[in-house]
Amino acid sequence: MEKKKDIRALSKEQLQDFFVAQGDKSFRGSQVYDWLWNKASYNFEDMTNLSKSTRQMLEDNFVINHIEVDEMQRSKDGTIKNAVKLHDGFTVESVLIPTFSRTTACVSSQVGCSLDCKFCATAKLKRLRNLNADEIFDQVVAIDKESRLYNGIPLSNIVYMGMGEPLMNYNNVLKSVEKITSPEGLGMSPKRITLSTSGVPKMIKKLADDKVKFNLAVSLHSAIDEVRTQIMPFNAKFPLADLRDALIYWHEHTGKAVTYEYIVWKGINDRVEDIRALVQFCKHIPCKVNLIEYNPIDDGEFQQGSDEAVAKYKTALEANYITVTLRHSRGKDIDAACGQLANKQKVV
Ligand code: SAH
Repeated sequence: MEKKKDIRALSKEQLQDFFVAQGDKSFRGSQVYDWLWNKASYNFEDMTNLSKSTRQMLEDNFVINHIEVDEMQRSKDGTIKNAVKLHDGFTVESVLIPTFSRTTACVSSQVGCSLDCKFCATAKLKRLRNLNADEIFDQVVAIDKESRLYNGIPLSNIVYMGMGEPLMNYNNVLKSVEKITSPEGLGMSPKRITLSTSGVPKMIKKLADDKVKFNLAVSLHSAIDEVRTQIMPFNAKFPLADLRDALIYWHEHTGKAVTYEYIVWKGINDRVEDIRALVQFCKHIPCKVNLIEYNPIDDGEFQQGSDEAVAKYKTALEANYITVTLRHSRGKDIDAACGQLANKQKVV
């Protein structure tokens, strides 16, 4: 028998065309689309505004591939980490981070990662495959449900900051944003979404050309090429000058600022010249710097910089009118913090 097609791979128009080809009305396609992307239904049975025979016909022709939350861990601080099983057996992780003012979902965009940042646990996994738009969408839906269940409030923000490099899975990531933000989908505001990239210049320009409405964060970690290449080797291919040009382009075309994520490490980027280079880099376009706490992943090759070094960064940036925030890690006890997502529970 021919393998059934995943219905969520079809656009709204394709769904409408399918019904017309069956001799039915095109608005049936819109109804199904609403069940799939607004109500996030995984069962044709649920689609009660369709006749029984139509539901059966869909069942005969299609499947709805979807994720399963395989294991959920809750941290002492309220952070939740989901190990999410994909339909072909791979596992990725997503995280729910509740704070005083918001509830944020941190979602994965790839199984593993093709980049090789020396300080990140996900980098050790290599990239196995890209996630489809629906697999990213499903992570958001799962976290929203948990947020309502455990915290009594819906999800308010989304960060593409889990496993993988979102700009190396560009089309699926943008499609997922479309399903999450469109009124026919989940209807969330793009202003509440942030995509975090290690900085792929060509794709940052493409985001600007595509006039995206969400926010951009760049994992900078050093504004000196030699240092950055040492800790993020792909920087040799995409040097800071190219990143700078892409960010200027981003700002010119979207009018938006950027957030730089930055970890201060002992003996790596805690010198005066490192601070000076960051301050200079921050002058290219309006920006904010998020100083992230390092979450150790290995044998101690990297160590969090001293409080004094972090304070020096903060003072220098603020003296130049650059907004700085200090981000403390959440969910460390369950390996849910930045850079710790590595499927410790499950072997993929
Ligand atoms: N590839 C994307 C998104 C995934 S990484 C990116 O690079 O932005 C998400 C964030 O976690 C990045 O800012 C990354 O630099 C940071 N990160 C990675 N490993 C970390 C660690 N061990 N401790 C703290 N932050 C880490």
